[in-house]
Amino acid sequence: MIIGSHCKMSSKDFLLGSVNEALSYDANALMIYTGAPQNTMRRPVKDLKVKEATELLAQNNIPMENMIAHAPYIINLANCVNASTFELATTFLEKEIARCEEIGLKYLVLHPGSFTTATFDKGINKIVEGLNMVLKQDQKVTILLETMSGKGSEVGYEFEHLKYIMDNTIFKQHLAVCLDTCHIHDAGYDLNDFDTILNDFDKIIGLDKLKVMHINDSKNEMGAKKDRHANIGDGFIGFKNLHYIVNHEKLENVIKILETPYIEEQAPYKAEIALLKSEI
Ligand SMILES: [Zn+2]
Repeated sequence: MIIGSHCKMSSKDFLLGSVNEALSYDANALMIYTGAPQNTMRRPVKDLKVKEATELLAQNNIPMENMIAHAPYIINLANCVNASTFELATTFLEKEIARCEEIGLKYLVLHPGSFTTATFDKGINKIVEGLNMVLKQDQKVTILLETMSGKGSEVGYEFEHLKYIMDNTIFKQHLAVCLDTCHIHDAGYDLNDFDTILNDFDKIIGLDKLKVMHINDSKNEMGAKKDRHANIGDGFIGFKNLHYIVNHEKLENVIKILETPYIEEQAPYKAEIALLKSEI
């Protein structure tokens, strides 16, 4: 099983610290932000201890592609109301892709965007426009469009939305999907019947496009459109369903990342990874 969690990247050890954090959870994958998720301040890649982190991964037989990045929340490609927000989204996404390439990261998770006060149709087409401005034919990084909960004016809460974006993007070969269990549950998908969801995904998008999953329980009922993550087994999805999902034979090669909340300021990931790997 390829499984890990979100890991911090704090000053001093940077990516080396992130990899050490992942190893302390017995993880063989991890997700990082290349800088603070809420702002655009970024340290130069040469300061991030990339070489040390890469070597430590290799020593532990963890492929480099198991370290993935998440784009900051401030990138909103669906914004067609405020030109400067869209401009920031495209220029910053371009820089993030370059940073990932420089570090040697293969996957960058991206929230498709929110249309704010415009319309859904305008928003989803703006995302396509943005991706067409940013993606380059020969880039090495794959952008993983994330399935969303449908909170507010989010685009991407149905598999069809992601399919539409992919179909209309020129360099669609650089797009794939990150499926978040909490988000799809909150969007109204019934995780008690996960095989039906997987079949739908395969029919609409194609399972070969599913590269990463965010494994989270949900604090809210199915269809609540809220997006609040709960610890594994503490939410409305439940341990049994999440255990079934992470151990699913069709998802063996998919990288699974926990983004569950800290418990009393402690990361829950070591225990949750062990729980999900356990025989039941
Ligand atoms: Zn996300």
